[in-house]
Amino acid sequence: MKAAVLEQAQNPIVVKNVPDPSVGVNDVLIKVRACGVCHTDLHIVDGMLAAFGYDPFPLIMGHEIVGEVAQVGSEVTHLKPGDRVGAYWQFGCGHCHYCRSGKEQTCITNSRTHNIRHAGVTLPGGYAEYFTVAADYAIPLPDAIEFVDAAPFLCAGLTMYAGFKNAALRPGQRAAILGIGGLGHLAIPIAKAMGAEVIAITSTESKQTTAKQLGADHTINGAGAEAGSKLLAMGGADVVLSTTLNTEAINGAIHGLLPQGTLVLTALTADPLPIIPVQLLAYEKRIIGSLIGTRLDFQELLHLAAQHNIRPMTECYALDDVNTAHARLREGKVRYRAVLTPN
Ligand SMILES: [Zn+2]
Ligand SMILES: [Zn+2]
Repeated sequence: MKAAVLEQAQNPIVVKNVPDPSVGVNDVLIKVRACGVCHTDLHIVDGMLAAFGYDPFPLIMGHEIVGEVAQVGSEVTHLKPGDRVGAYWQFGCGHCHYCRSGKEQTCITNSRTHNIRHAGVTLPGGYAEYFTVAADYAIPLPDAIEFVDAAPFLCAGLTMYAGFKNAALRPGQRAAILGIGGLGHLAIPIAKAMGAEVIAITSTESKQTTAKQLGADHTINGAGAEAGSKLLAMGGADVVLSTTLNTEAINGAIHGLLPQGTLVLTALTADPLPIIPVQLLAYEKRIIGSLIGTRLDFQELLHLAAQHNIRPMTECYALDDVNTAHARLREGKVRYRAVLTPN
């Protein structure tokens, strides 16, 4: 099959022929119809994995994988060739407390054995014509959602939905989204569908216009620390979901939280965050990390998206144009999620 391979970090991605993935008795082979390009993929190209002690190269990246089932293993009875599925891509040990509760992305066994198993990150992913996954991880897609629209739900959309869910966002509450990009643009309709009053925070004027079109009730033109004070002036928020790497903006957002409010961190940054404890305890504010989401979260999000007509804004690229897609993402030009279409 044809695949886009990162031979080593800090190199261009090479499109070439590689062996087809094998299909075990409990697996399904997916003909990849769409695979989203995530900011994490740029971090991988830049060398993030070596910093964490991983060397999965040569690597086929891509963790927003959807397509048609092409083949099923002999033990698989609930899926058949032709079924439309999305591939959940974070695999836990299956037997620890966290895995049993569905939180495979925080599997303690994988953490202790330093064996994080994520498709497209440490295992082969979806920048390819075919991808194999255990059948239990292939989640059926609603007919109403096209492949290209479904792919970004596997990371960008799921991270936003689970972030709000982990913050216990309730109907009628105010949700602010800090940073409107691949993730944040999906957070707007998701928070609306969950019943919130939505405030989009971005310093890019064209993104404020888009945020309104996507259903934001209010927009704030702000970057850095001032975003939080502007949010406070506008009445504050019960939940601030941050997709930005800008720690000044993240820290500023604490000021914009209402009492008992929750700041949700979803973007991968190792930069320190200066926290003043009294800021948190005086009004019982919380800061939480939220990592992607669970298989159940993904299933719920698909229902929500089908019901409320939530779709990402996408740019499509052939597999051969993967480096162009990466370059545009790196330059901040993608509006709003780049998606590869290998088949
Ligand atoms: Zn991602
Ligand atoms: Zn586990």
